[in-house]
Amino acid sequence: MIKRSFLGLVKPRLQYSLVSDTVRELPVPSKVTLLLKEPGNGGGTTPPKVGDAVKTGQKLSASPEDAEYVIASVTGTVSGITPYVDGYGQKYTAITIEASSQDEWDDQFNKELTLDTVQNFFEYAPGNPSFKAFADPEKRIQAIVINGMEEDLLITTNQYVVKNHAQEIKSGIQVLKKITDIDRILMAVPESLFQEANTTGAEVKTVSDIYPDGLPHTIMKDVLGQVVEAGNAPEDMGVAFIAAEAVAALGAAFDTGRLPVTKLLTVVGKDGATTNVRARIGTPLRDVLQVCDISLSDRDRLILGGPMRGAATYSEELPLGPGTDGVVVQDEGNSAEVTDYPCINCGECVRICPVKIPVNMLVRFLEARLYEDAAAMYDLHCCIECGLCSYVCVSRIPIFQYIKVGKYELSLTETAEAE
Ligand code: SF4
Ligand code: SF4
Repeated sequence: MIKRSFLGLVKPRLQYSLVSDTVRELPVPSKVTLLLKEPGNGGGTTPPKVGDAVKTGQKLSASPEDAEYVIASVTGTVSGITPYVDGYGQKYTAITIEASSQDEWDDQFNKELTLDTVQNFFEYAPGNPSFKAFADPEKRIQAIVINGMEEDLLITTNQYVVKNHAQEIKSGIQVLKKITDIDRILMAVPESLFQEANTTGAEVKTVSDIYPDGLPHTIMKDVLGQVVEAGNAPEDMGVAFIAAEAVAALGAAFDTGRLPVTKLLTVVGKDGATTNVRARIGTPLRDVLQVCDISLSDRDRLILGGPMRGAATYSEELPLGPGTDGVVVQDEGNSAEVTDYPCINCGECVRICPVKIPVNMLVRFLEARLYEDAAAMYDLHCCIECGLCSYVCVSRIPIFQYIKVGKYELSLTETAEAE
């Protein structure tokens, strides 16, 4: 539920949504598209060829040693290999598979309980987990936080999993303990899910249902009493965050021997109604919208993710990725417009910012593309990307998007310098 403040006298109170009880299962789509990231060295990829047969659960990568891979979510025949570049310039190879309605399961996944196995088969799992930090001696991970909270408003994916798949999470926790030797496993959930979370064996911590208290940086501060330093991630402080959906997928896979190939997501329609949907990873958004009876018109806005942190996209042919927790559709009349009006120094963004960034100054440097100055003088790297500043900005400046672009541009510069 979203309640805006009146004339900025009171901070808006943005509450996470309550988890729904039902989920719509999509049948196997006629085709899926999997986005295989280009290796960091830019060497290009030579994944399967058009005409190759693939099985459900089959690992597809440029070469067996390559850290980047996707997992086929259907059985079928590769019908297209095309380059794809996302909104931030990250290059992918889009692998399209014409799907058969019957699954034939690949048997490469051997259920061996090692970190290697998990790194080799679960980096493309739903919930977008990453296990690289556990193998990095510089990170020295000492605790794992299973995040049963959402990273945006209106989304209820992780809460749904905690409520309905506690047994799989329990199995996933056993897997995590065995492969990492880490005993301290916590779970962050809203108070309403304490009971379900408590059956998993994790040390349960309740988190307020007010946005952005479910974001990892906020959980670090409020629950673990640790402030993540600017530019760092929780794993730099020895704490790894994994989404509840990913832990449940891990547990189910080791119980059944089958890799996870579906993604749970919340679809928010033009009227604000939400539906939880489960579909094969790689399903085109068009199929997801269809099952929710949502049709798009010219100038409607399609957002991948939630309303605060999601990114508008241009095509309903784009596929669901393993990290797509939500899809929001807004009709033209209800889409918040952004403008190029100047900042009027009202201070709303500064008051709302949970990390007290002088956003009114930051945005001036970002607009002028002075990214290094924005980081050095106005705390760009402290931003936890909650999007609240954009939400309250009376000039409708797309501050959040400026911040994302600024961080991305700086990361490119830093990578180029390191190389
Ligand atoms: S997105 Fe805006 S409000 Fe949120 S932490 Fe960053 S600067 Fe502050
Ligand atoms: S950026 Fe927007 S919210 Fe912040 S001071 Fe300027 S006009 Fe106000």
